[in-house]
Amino acid sequence: ASGYHRVLDENRRLYNEVQDLKGSIRVYCRVRPFLSGQSSQMSTIEHFEEGNIAIRAPSKYGKGLKSFSFNKVFGPSATQAEVFSDMQPLIRSVLDGYNVCIFAYGQTGSGKTYTMSGPKELTEQSQGVNYRSLGDLFCLAEKRRDAFRYDVAVQMIEIYNEQVRDLLNKIRNSSQNGLNVPEASLVPVSSTSDVIHLMNIGQRNRAVGATALNDRSSRSHSCLTVHVQGRNLTNGTTLRGCMHLVDLAGSERVDKSEVTGDRLKEAQHINKSLSALGDVIASLAQKSAHVPYRNSKLTQLLQDSLGGQAKTLMFVHISPEPEAVGETLSTLKFAERVATVELGAARVNK
Ligand code: ADP
Repeated sequence: ASGYHRVLDENRRLYNEVQDLKGSIRVYCRVRPFLSGQSSQMSTIEHFEEGNIAIRAPSKYGKGLKSFSFNKVFGPSATQAEVFSDMQPLIRSVLDGYNVCIFAYGQTGSGKTYTMSGPKELTEQSQGVNYRSLGDLFCLAEKRRDAFRYDVAVQMIEIYNEQVRDLLNKIRNSSQNGLNVPEASLVPVSSTSDVIHLMNIGQRNRAVGATALNDRSSRSHSCLTVHVQGRNLTNGTTLRGCMHLVDLAGSERVDKSEVTGDRLKEAQHINKSLSALGDVIASLAQKSAHVPYRNSKLTQLLQDSLGGQAKTLMFVHISPEPEAVGETLSTLKFAERVATVELGAARVNK
């Protein structure tokens, strides 16, 4: 076991050295706890610490321990506050005029919505990244009040079968804007309670079209975009920053022989957009002259946050159950590929 730990330590040291050198996408991994009634099961997670995680793979997936390194690994007992605690510099950079993208990836049921929004019965403690980010943003803006005047506005959209749906339409005081989703309402907000109100409306609109047997939220991407415009009160200059908070559709592969009709169509659209995301990331990693942002609505939407000066954080989610191990390994492999991207070095083709 000590030899094994030495290898992990060395992996981490090398990994951190490389990470320090480049403006890469940061990748955090979060392990969901067993849900109530499951605790007698054996976890597939053999070991995790700081930036390393090891999965016990059965023979079907090449028996043995598979280890992965990321910027950070959060175990099943990590709280929402702990998960958010490292993110303040990202929020600050939105107020400094940078574009930030935070997205949640993983199979359905692995905890993406829990991380981004929180559980169904929301309390202040269980609030996810979306609420906390906006809370921090308002708090920091207030601290800078003597030097900057900030205007904040949000959009909420859903991408389902490559169709973009505005989750905040019909809201008074909304205006149109010319960014990536010109048709989506842009609603000014000035406090966390404004945001909670809008997120509730967005959630309700998202549920329209879903039935008890067809919870479509796991098969659509949802995105809360926060636009910030700051005016420097000393010299009158303005800056703009934006933050995309994305809860991706479930990444699980669907057995084509088992689904037909609407389910098959949904699965094909999800595959297409997640592989378009993978392709964009791969071409950024290879510093290709052409980055294929246009291949899906998702990558089009995230274009200004994947590449150039943007700062990107991907939260990958995994489930501890043995039956999920195939998806867990493919999620971690995807995440490892993402972690090798140098954003600043890539040429961006808009
Ligand atoms: P996904 O969005 O990936 O489909 P969810 O966020 O809906 O998954 O999580 C599935 C279930 O697990 C939900 O009941 C959720 O409340 C619970 N859950 C997920 N992550 C955690 C966590 N870190 N702690 C406690 N419960 C969690």
